[in-house]
Amino acid sequence: MQDCIFCKIAKGEIPSQKVYEDDLLFAFKDISPMAPVHILIIPKTHYRSLNEVPTNEMHLLGTMVEIARKLAWEQGLKEKGYRLALNTEQEGGQSVYHLHLHLLGGRQLGPSLVG
Ligand code: AMP
Repeated sequence: MQDCIFCKIAKGEIPSQKVYEDDLLFAFKDISPMAPVHILIIPKTHYRSLNEVPTNEMHLLGTMVEIARKLAWEQGLKEKGYRLALNTEQEGGQSVYHLHLHLLGGRQLGPSLVG
């Protein structure tokens, strides 16, 4: 999508700290990290939010989680633990409207899921 910042990041048109890329996905460090490890995993295909992913494409979410887990393990978080978050639309706290999964870890995260 033309004006989407995450589309531009996935295409390399806007710089990012890339940590992973394959045909389907791109992952990069969050610009305002909320934890020592804060990585965003995005599909290269533009979906505004989880709501837009067609049912027959939902396997994409499994692939995103698989890569998030791989990156968490690579960051040494397998035993310590980590959190995946998928904010959806305005009241879900989404601020960038390109589907993305947050991987957070490297410190004790609070028990609250809402802020
Ligand atoms: P959300 O609030 O779930 O939509 O998360 C969007 C995330 O994107 C926030 O954590 C931002 O810090 C992050 N973000 C926004 N712009 C950039 C950027 N150019 N590079 C890396 N992360 C970004």
